[in-house]
Amino acid sequence: MAKHTIVLIPGDGIGPEVTAATRRVLEAVGLSVEWVELPAGATALEQGFDNVLPQRTLAAIKAHRVALKGPVTTPVGKGFKSVNVQLRQALNLYAAIRPVRSMAGVKTRYENVDMVIVRENTEGLYSGIENEVVPGVVTSMKVASEPACTRIARYAFRYANRRHRRKVTVFHKANIMKLTDGLFLKCSKRIHEEEYPNIEYEEVIIDAGCMKLIQDPTKFDVLLMENLYGDLVSDMCAGLVGGLGVTPGANIGEEAAVFEAVHGSAPDIAGKGLANPLALIMSGVMMLNHLHEEPMAERIKAAYNAVLAEGASLTRDLGGTATTQQFTDALVARLK
Ligand code: NAD
Repeated sequence: MAKHTIVLIPGDGIGPEVTAATRRVLEAVGLSVEWVELPAGATALEQGFDNVLPQRTLAAIKAHRVALKGPVTTPVGKGFKSVNVQLRQALNLYAAIRPVRSMAGVKTRYENVDMVIVRENTEGLYSGIENEVVPGVVTSMKVASEPACTRIARYAFRYANRRHRRKVTVFHKANIMKLTDGLFLKCSKRIHEEEYPNIEYEEVIIDAGCMKLIQDPTKFDVLLMENLYGDLVSDMCAGLVGGLGVTPGANIGEEAAVFEAVHGSAPDIAGKGLANPLALIMSGVMMLNHLHEEPMAERIKAAYNAVLAEGASLTRDLGGTATTQQFTDALVARLK
């Protein structure tokens, strides 16, 4: 019997290409795994399910507690509630963890970037509470609750403490959103003072924070923020270290964890063999650490660092010409 059972969601667009590559790498490193492959997104509708997040897929993640997920396409302005929002709310995946690091072999304007974004994943403007007040006037409600603000703040400080990080910076706009962002700040400050006074704590208004990030990202360490800010800042920070092809992610709750890259389904390059699978492979490494398979995680890390440093098998987004398959071949060869 396999040691781990993992739900695998190929997703849409480049999803099937990058999940297949990641699965190959995890199997090549020797992970004992039974994959439970299930659909989500447009693919689920094409297969005849009546929701972008079929009950079967959700139930499997609840049962097995770990999933590796490709990106899914979310139609703009109409249709079903986003798969990602549904998943995060239904499974209470309250913490999105997104490490952003400079890597040897990936040329960018910046060096020595090493940050982790901790994004609240269940509230804010993603609560999906929107109303038409009268025709032509619509509202969207930003929700913040004390338990959710407290648990994400505690997660960020605990993460910083365990990983020997020096500082937690909260990005906020409490000068304008005095109640919602004000509560987020109040809870973060309280957790700092009462539970983690050993870790440096800083509050920065998000507009100035974005400027400071671009001026010198090395000044930041752990970044804590609410849902929408975390979404935007994650992509911006991805741009500091080489783009969406190198930015992994994890969505963590008490009962389950879903590992996925920060990037979307990239319809512009889907099916062409051009996608960089590294962001999802790196998410797979985060999953191995979560599963206490640290030696395997380290081996994959060493292998992709070597492939990047050597430079002959970089995908197009990193300035190379390799296909998804060629990059994966080079990585798998290093694992042997
Ligand atoms: P995107 O991340 O899919 O693409 C943005 C740009 O980055 C595109 O030019 C794309 O080609 C490139 N890119 C992304 N991933 C790449 C990779 N692995 N290798 C090489 N290049 C890569 O963002 P988008 O175009 O705004 O969104 C497309 C769809 O994805 C939308 O429907 C959106 O809702 C969805 N989306 C899903 C998730 C998710 O499932 N977690 C996250 C973000 C966006």
